[in-house]
Amino acid sequence: MQAIDTLTPCPCGNDAGYARCCGPLHEGGVAHTAEALMRSRYSAYVLKREDYLLATWHPSTRPASLKLAAQQPAPTWLGLDVKRHEEAGVHATVEFIARLRYGGGKAQRMHEISRFVQEQGRWYYLDGQFPQS
Ligand SMILES: [Zn+2]
Repeated sequence: MQAIDTLTPCPCGNDAGYARCCGPLHEGGVAHTAEALMRSRYSAYVLKREDYLLATWHPSTRPASLKLAAQQPAPTWLGLDVKRHEEAGVHATVEFIARLRYGGGKAQRMHEISRFVQEQGRWYYLDGQFPQS
């Protein structure tokens, strides 16, 4: 397998590559926009970085664990498409479509409108709605 820091494009789809996109955030860097945080969380799902997903989840809605490693069938993430990104003060909304496949199943779309909140300069995932589409 390819070394993680040379992944190009980034798992989130950015042509700049992992080392210039989601990688620094996974190492503790600050996401300057909610969209950047959202993209880094998508990449964390791809890379099974449960620690990062929990660390960027707001404590008020954060689950105790995600058990990503135990998920069966394991999802294969196929791509991310950010549709909309709106920030208003310390609140933000990011709408996106992620494509994934479970095991050998058919590719499916996950359409989510995520809410984010900023505290002490850091964005956190709050929750998501899943519109029918
Ligand atoms: Zn990225």
